[in-house]
Amino acid sequence: RLFNELLRAKGNIRVFCRVRPLNSQEGRVSCVDFPNEDRANRQISVAPQDKQQGGRSMPRKDFEFDRVFNEQSSQTLVYEESVKPLVQSALDGFNVCVFAYGQTGSGKTHTMEGPETDRGVTYRAIKELFDLASGECAVPGVVEYTFHLSMLEIYNEQIKDLLEDKTTVATKKLDIKMREDGLGVHVPGLTERPVATAEEVLHLLQVGSKNRSVGVTMMNEHSSRSHLVMMISCVNHNMSKQTSFTSKITFIDLAGSERVSKSCAEGDRLKEASFINKSLSALGDVIASLASAQTKSGSSHIPFRNSKLTYLLSDSLGNECKTMLFVNISPSVIHSHESLCSLMFAFRAR
Ligand code: ADP
Ligand code: MG
Repeated sequence: RLFNELLRAKGNIRVFCRVRPLNSQEGRVSCVDFPNEDRANRQISVAPQDKQQGGRSMPRKDFEFDRVFNEQSSQTLVYEESVKPLVQSALDGFNVCVFAYGQTGSGKTHTMEGPETDRGVTYRAIKELFDLASGECAVPGVVEYTFHLSMLEIYNEQIKDLLEDKTTVATKKLDIKMREDGLGVHVPGLTERPVATAEEVLHLLQVGSKNRSVGVTMMNEHSSRSHLVMMISCVNHNMSKQTSFTSKITFIDLAGSERVSKSCAEGDRLKEASFINKSLSALGDVIASLASAQTKSGSSHIPFRNSKLTYLLSDSLGNECKTMLFVNISPSVIHSHESLCSLMFAFRAR
């Protein structure tokens, strides 16, 4: 019933599923299928494994999303059919948010950041942002843009500034505050670097990644437990009218969802004590209530304050914003349970 209701609510939230290729440890058995693949690329079905019955397959479960990308979908295709149109929206004044959700190893970082030789959506969007801002969207002397970059991590409900200048500042304790004019939130003290080119941003992203964790060997473990947030604020200056407006585009590589699935298995509305679950389930609650609020008239309560992540993003999720969620999954039977949980999370968002 609830799912049917959510299904009708489309609004400004788009949900895309991406299935990565099987890797060498996973063998060849996929539990994922794409019904009607040739038609609309919107459907995916997963055959869960029933461990109690000796691995016998259970009935397939079908899901529909705004778009499903399969193992063969290239970085270029994924970018062009998902994030690309949102870059223009950000310059037009919308707050835009792009998330990657999924268990550790499902392809979140590949989709967002990608390898150096085949970049993901974040890098491509940054290039596009600066191309548009210095090209079509700008009228020199009339409309000009300025940009600032922030990069932070949320780990155990604490915010860490990844662009902080360590030589001058002792590590600060950061918190989220409502702006004085009541319009949105900010993080007083968070580093905001002025950036004028895509290359500057890409350089700072590397600096930020290095600040993320001490040892490279710990990187996987660390990134599976923390949310990485990269925000670019865009100010549109209209010189002739002497006006300006600000918008933001935010990319979030979420913590691994594997701990959520334990409670998912018990049908327990994704509740568990850990911080990761707290913020991922808070995000699920926010997105689901936004989706259902769009079917009703009037304003309903959106529980933004239940986690740092949702509070931080409260001015980038909602009516005047454009939100995109990638749900990344592995096609392997070994991960069928995790994949089902991720798909159910994402389905709730629609
Ligand atoms: P996560 O960030 O969700 O933990 P990663 O993005 O690090 O997962 O992906 C895990 C591994 O799978 C990496 O080695 C990555 O290069 C590979 N991978 C993920 N998605 C794809 C894809 N679409 N095509 C090829 N390799 C992929
Ligand atoms: Mg990752």
